[in-house]
Amino acid sequence: MALIEAQNLRKSYGSIQAVRGISFQVDRGEVVGFLGPNGAGKSTTMKLLTGHLLPDSGSAKVGGFDVTESPVAAKAHLGYSPEGAPAYGEMTVREFLQFAAELRGLPKPSVKVQNTLSLCRLTEVAQQTIETLSKGYRMRVGFAQAVIHDPEVLILDEPTDGLDPNQKFEVRRLLKEMAARKAVIVSTHILEEIEELCTRVIIIAQGEVRCDESKEKFLQRGSDLNQIFRQLTA
Ligand code: ADP
Repeated sequence: MALIEAQNLRKSYGSIQAVRGISFQVDRGEVVGFLGPNGAGKSTTMKLLTGHLLPDSGSAKVGGFDVTESPVAAKAHLGYSPEGAPAYGEMTVREFLQFAAELRGLPKPSVKVQNTLSLCRLTEVAQQTIETLSKGYRMRVGFAQAVIHDPEVLILDEPTDGLDPNQKFEVRRLLKEMAARKAVIVSTHILEEIEELCTRVIIIAQGEVRCDESKEKFLQRGSDLNQIFRQLTA
């Protein structure tokens, strides 16, 4: 069974057709790089997969559960880190993660918080309020709340956006550590991240899938990734 299933998803905002019939499946062990120009429909697709938006038609399943029909079961299998850093800036990192653990009804929430702080290397800033952290740390807090329940499915919207090289390295390291046991979708602007992180590439443009293939196959298209990307999204 695929851990993520998108079936002919469609979503419009008024007259804007943001997602126009997107289908794919993601299995355990896959890290899918989700690429596309700004406005291509990546974030909207991710929100449809996580149940944060309802599709006009089509369906999304996570861990075998339809995200609209069985949202609680689907969300138990899902970690989602939306674009940008988390809100709740006045909370400390520990309080925020405790809040996330309790919202999910996890057993032994304090133990989960401690383990996640350590996994995401946030222990030294645990008592700081989120608003006082650097962007790299704040993004990692967003990542931490997405993985606190060790979900099988991770959906991450631009987790390395705006980070310096060291911070990018740190987020990629975390992802690689976890990826073998999960199905992961990660959207990015950075073509090099495909090589570094992904096992598969899905390119979206104008709300449609333009390319869906293994990283190896994608990299065989040529050496100028920017040019390949421009051709596929034209
Ligand atoms: P991406 O993540 O690839 O940049 P989005 O999914 O954010 O793309 O956006 C797809 C299209 O939908 C764009 O044209 C964008 O302007 C539009 N859009 C996104 N969110 C909204 C919204 N809440 N209201 C109206 N239009 C939106």
